[in-house]
Formats: sequence, structure tokens, C-alpha cells
Amino acid sequence: MPHAPAQHTSTRPPRSRVRQTPTVLLILLAALLTTACGRDREPVATEAAAESPAAAEQQTQPDAPSPTGVRADGTFRIVATTTQASDLSRILTDGVANIEITPLMGAGVDPHLYQPTESDIRAMNAADMVVYSGLHLEGQFDAVFAALREQGTLIYTLSKPVKDAGFVIGGFGADETQSGTDDPHFWFDPRNWELTVADLAQTLAELDPDNAAAYTAHADAYNAQLRTLFTWASDGMRSVPEAQRYLVTSHDAFQYFGAAFGWRMAGIQGISTEDETGVGDIQRTAQFVVEQNIPVLFVESSISPDTIEAVQAAIEAAGGSVRVGVRELYSDAMGMPGTFAGAYIGMIAENVYTILQSYRCAGAPATIPDWPDSIDISPPQELLTVDCEAEKS
Ligand SMILES: [Zn+2]
Repeated sequence: MPHAPAQHTSTRPPRSRVRQTPTVLLILLAALLTTACGRDREPVATEAAAESPAAAEQQTQPDAPSPTGVRADGTFRIVATTTQASDLSRILTDGVANIEITPLMGAGVDPHLYQPTESDIRAMNAADMVVYSGLHLEGQFDAVFAALREQGTLIYTLSKPVKDAGFVIGGFGADETQSGTDDPHFWFDPRNWELTVADLAQTLAELDPDNAAAYTAHADAYNAQLRTLFTWASDGMRSVPEAQRYLVTSHDAFQYFGAAFGWRMAGIQGISTEDETGVGDIQRTAQFVVEQNIPVLFVESSISPDTIEAVQAAIEAAGGSVRVGVRELYSDAMGMPGTFAGAYIGMIAENVYTILQSYRCAGAPATIPDWPDSIDISPPQELLTVDCEAEKS
């Protein structure tokens, strides 16, 4: 059988690609990257950073636009690493002719652990612009980005305007080894995402001035929706009594979310999923949940439920009880493209529904405000109702 046509130009690679362990490709990449893929391997990102400290430093520095300009052949090629990066790139370039967006990671993919494949690197090599999250979220990309920068590829950092504005949160205090580490999950405060929207639109307008008006108009319209989303989410999240606002998750992805909406956080793992979770972490979290009378634990869509289930088991073994959320939370990866949670606004909103519904199922008071008409996507009906008993674990 012949292979698929070589001129395949879909901007959405088959979803299965990112789930596979591309052994052959990884061998090809051995010269560039420390290999190994999967949840159980040793962390390698810190080694990569140590080998090329310049790569880590450059991450927060601005990149000069290519002197030759984009659209050298008429097409503006954008490669986006995370689902958030792909979503925003699509929104800001909507309706602009000859834009090609190549997303690298799909739904459910953990960006802390994701290894760029050979085809990812080929796409980035051919790109006019690579859009990535930064603050070491894409922990396995440092060496590739260093090589791309050396050849003059424009690499845009979504977190940069947030960092520049002073809104980046430092490492979680639970582990002193993480002090001084920037928390990469900045997008979880919609006000931070607004800064990113405006900055990326301005960058696109400078790179592709013929379409500057479109980028700016998209950013303004979208940011108005983000402000509405923030108010809706804040009203809902603050309806839970302050003493009960505790979000317990697998890893510390929700500090910005908590800061935005007045909730405290407790992650079993640290800031990155590369950190190992030990028996002590499980026991410590279980004890904390019991002491604080926390009614619900949440599993994240891009992370194994093992640690949350272990905490629940530890609590039950001690004669206690705790619920697991009625749905998984989206943390580092959004939902499937085309679904409500496949868009940033829907992803934030679905997390709010999931948290508030889970708290209500646990008997805590929580009010879910009506969905604002002025936001141009709406939650599907199955998200609005939940059967607490059916979801009971
Ligand atoms: Zn994370």
C-alpha cells in the first residue's frame, strides 16, 4: 500500500500521533535530545537546561523579527506547541488568508513531558514563527529552541508579557527546592491571558502588517469576552464559603486560578509533573485533606489519576471519606479541538462547572451563575446537569 499523499496539508495532524511513543524518531533525535518518553522515566529537562544555560536565559528575552519578514513564499507558517497556543493562534488569525497553523500537542498531552518528534522539528524548521508557552512548561524543548534560535527562527513566548508585567507567581512554598522557580501555568488567570492576547496580536501585526487590522480587531473582541468570562467565573467560585475553598489536585497547576478567584491550592506533586511523587506526599496530602475537612479531590486530564486515587484510598483506609470531582479538570492541556473545552474560554468554564458541581454534590453551598450571552461559545447541555450519585466513586 502506498503511503498518504506527500502534499497532505492539514493543519491538524492526526490526533493519534501525539499519543504514540515514536521510538524510531526518538532514536533519530538522540544527537539533539536526551531521549525517553512516558510517565515513568527520569526527569531530563533540568539536565538539558544545565547543558545549555543560555537556552534557559533566552526564554525570557524578546526575539527580533526575521529580517527577511514572514510570508517569503506567500504563506505565514505558525507552529504552536500547546493546545492553548494553538487555540489563541487560530482565534487571532481567523479569516486571514494563507495562514498555516501546525499544532504540536493534542488534548490530554502533558507539555512538561512532551518530547518534540522529528516531524515537529521539521515543522518548526519551516515555520515563520513558533508560538510556545514558556517558563519551562515545555520542559523538553530547550535544546530544540536553542538550535532554532541559532538559525534565526522567530520564537514567541506567550508568558513574556505576563512576566514583564510582574504577574508571574514563584514556586509553591511546600517544597523549598522549588523556591525561585516560576510557575508556568499563567494562563489560568484570564486577566493574564488578556495580556498575552494583546501582545501576540501586536506581534502578528508587526510581522504581517497587511493584516494588522484583523489581528487587532480579533484581539479586542476576544479580550472583551475574556473579561466577561472572568466576572462569570469569579461570581461562581466566590459563591463557595471562603473556609471551604480548597482545590486539591495532582500537581500545582492551579495557583493562578486560585489567586484569580480566591481559592487556596494543594497539589500532591510540585509545579512540574516531572517531579516524583513519593509515599510521603500521599500521606501528607491525605492528612491535610482530613484536617481541613476538604470534601473533593480533583483529577487532571493530562495526568494519571493514580496519585489522587492513592490519597482517596489513604483517607478511606483511615476511616474517612472524600469524593473525587464529577469530571477531570483541564490543567496543562485543553479538550479535543471542536469541543467546548477545546477552546480556552470553554476550558476555563468547564473547570468552573466541574468544581462547583462537585462541591454541590459534596453538600457545600455553591451557586453557578447563568452563562453570559455575550460569549460566542456556550456550554453543552450535558455540562449543565450532573447526577451526583452516578458520579460517586
Ligand atoms: Zn503543569
